Amino acid sequence: MNAELNHVELVAFHLTGDRSGGHLTDVAELDMRPALFAGYGDLTGLRYDYPLVLADNSDGEGAVRTLSSIVDDVLNGIAPQGIEGEFARKQLLSLEHRIRSAVAGGAQGTLAKLWQQAGDRMLAGADDTVGEDLQNVLAQAEAALVADGEVIDCDGATPGKVLRHLWQTGQRRKNQSLRHRLDKLILGLEGILGADFAKSETGRSAAQLKGALRGSYEAAFDFDALSNILPRTASDASLPEDRRLRLHATLKVLQTQRFVPASELLRESNAEAPYDFVFQGCAAAKAAFEERLPELVALAKALSVAELEMENRFKPARHEHYFEAFDQTSLRPDDLAQFPSYLVLLPDGDADGVVIERARAAELLSSGLPVKVLVQTDDLLGEDGVTPGQIAMRGNNLHIANMAVGINSAYVLQTTTAGIFRLRNRIMKGLDYAGPALFSIFSGDAGANGSRAPYLTAAAAAESRGFPAFTFDPGAGPDWASRFSVASNPQAETDWPEHELTYELEHHERVEEKLNFTFVDFVAADGRYAKHLTGVGNGSSDKGLMPVGEYLRRKAEGRRDNVPYVLMIDGDNVLRKIVVGEPVIRAAERCVENWHALQELGGVHNSHAARLLETERQRWDEEKQRELDELRAQAAAAASAAPAPAAVAAVEAVAGAVEAEAPEAPAPDPDVAWIETPRCTTCNECTELNNQLFAYNDNQQAYILDIDGGSFKDMVEAAETCQVSIIHPGKPRNPKEANLSDLVKRAAPFI
Ligand code: SF4
Repeated sequence: MNAELNHVELVAFHLTGDRSGGHLTDVAELDMRPALFAGYGDLTGLRYDYPLVLADNSDGEGAVRTLSSIVDDVLNGIAPQGIEGEFARKQLLSLEHRIRSAVAGGAQGTLAKLWQQAGDRMLAGADDTVGEDLQNVLAQAEAALVADGEVIDCDGATPGKVLRHLWQTGQRRKNQSLRHRLDKLILGLEGILGADFAKSETGRSAAQLKGALRGSYEAAFDFDALSNILPRTASDASLPEDRRLRLHATLKVLQTQRFVPASELLRESNAEAPYDFVFQGCAAAKAAFEERLPELVALAKALSVAELEMENRFKPARHEHYFEAFDQTSLRPDDLAQFPSYLVLLPDGDADGVVIERARAAELLSSGLPVKVLVQTDDLLGEDGVTPGQIAMRGNNLHIANMAVGINSAYVLQTTTAGIFRLRNRIMKGLDYAGPALFSIFSGDAGANGSRAPYLTAAAAAESRGFPAFTFDPGAGPDWASRFSVASNPQAETDWPEHELTYELEHHERVEEKLNFTFVDFVAADGRYAKHLTGVGNGSSDKGLMPVGEYLRRKAEGRRDNVPYVLMIDGDNVLRKIVVGEPVIRAAERCVENWHALQELGGVHNSHAARLLETERQRWDEEKQRELDELRAQAAAAASAAPAPAAVAAVEAVAGAVEAEAPEAPAPDPDVAWIETPRCTTCNECTELNNQLFAYNDNQQAYILDIDGGSFKDMVEAAETCQVSIIHPGKPRNPKEANLSDLVKRAAPFI
């Protein structure tokens, strides 16, 4: 086709969506995905974050594990390094693949069950030459498998399941602590009252003594004789009536509370079932909190009174008045933090009820109550055509997260299901936070994404800045630099992440190209937006086509006469150049503006800091120039009395001395681990991970205490969890460490 005609048609399509030229191809049925996801057609063949195992009875970061990490642990236990362990490694990786495929196909259950089923299938398909060896490997592996729990894939249920599991893990810890405190106080108060009762006439009666020693002891005593002896030996001093009444009332509150389950030890004392703390709506959670508030106040009061009584420190003159006036306003955040928090799970949707609940979430978070709210987003874009001339971003959920940051006292975390595993520690931190917390999570399980797995949609949303990750932790420090972080986004300092794409042309010519992953890639993979995209006909000219990353970087005049295109892979794995309509470009521009705002909050390209830096740099340059001019003038004056070569040397020496004033620091050796200590935000992640390897200096900023104080794995994990990406793991020091090739790959982005 004529190159000019082709270009005119593409420009017309880009500006108006007009396809009447007849040479443009429809992309609606192509089932496209971004070219940078070319290698991710079948996720079951990859070892990646999913499936996840929600580990039973595990605390901390072990509460959620990847299947791959569990298999690696088993392999470390049973497969020797080198060729000797090759058979076991091969078989267990095959078993992992079978479990991953089964879960992707809808299988559900615990890891133990799915592991067993996969092993059985392997044995059933094995021939005689390997059957016995395989059986041995599977038996050893099963014995070495210590983790168990529900296995989940990445789908619309993932945010709720992960959050609920981590919340339960934290509540279990909290409940145990409160339960222990309650048991101790109940037993103590019962002891005081029991001793007092034993001194009373009733307490010393034969019937009472017989009742107190039931069962096998009953026949061993003459209770009438015992009853006659006791009055002579017991002290007559008994509790004052007001104290006895107070102890009884306090004990009753402790015994009948419903905030934590009754203990095994004292089961008979608590007849009613404990309260439920998981809600599907904000209104229900708030109503439950308010309804239970009087009981909660009574319990907090009873705990304090009981502790004073147990230590014999309750002074009526001092405490009675205080506890009479004790009400909900007396509760401090620390008091509330010892009770279970309220978990609210809000699904996605446009139904009235869902929209109202989202509005209520804002109100609930502002109230400061101990609520943990999950706001889930399944569909980021919505149907095309809702807003004329614009890509209809369903931005409500993004706005809720931004609004929650504005509250300034709520913990806020936003991520996608593709990042949920990596951010599990921060999710737990938000769940443990004493105040309200919001978790805004994109599942990727909706929209017209063809055959693409929800994980890839979620990863594309994060990569394209459509659903950027961030955390706001009000407890992390006094300023935004400590509280707000966007560091967990890919290449957080850039507008769009850049990656290398290698592909072959028709005649096997190899092409390597650097591509940006932009919001256009995300939109182009959504079939509902096909009308804003067109394929370039076979054999068409590339005249005037510009990669979308480059196009977005340019201002209007730099774009003139060009049309933007994005590289996509179709359902047959064919690479295609797809020309993009103006509405998609405008959506990408809005997206990057939002991203810039987040970057600024996170201290990346902060405009105030940049302006200050520029002013300081100018001032420094002017000062140095003035000094240089003065010295040159002095040297020139001195040289006028000296021979010519000496004068030139003097002037050069003076200039050189001034210019050499700002020596450059030697570049760090990329092979050796190091930390950019001055940028450390003291978040404790690395020091908690391994305090032999990392420590704080006098400024409370992390440095490497002992480079041999931990493994390369520790170093890589610290680099991955560091919020500001300042840990550089260098190269492994122990060539025998397990999984080195995997670790080196993970370390690469931080070198
Ligand atoms: S170096 Fe350690 S303490 Fe400092 S910000 Fe990174 S992870 Fe946190």
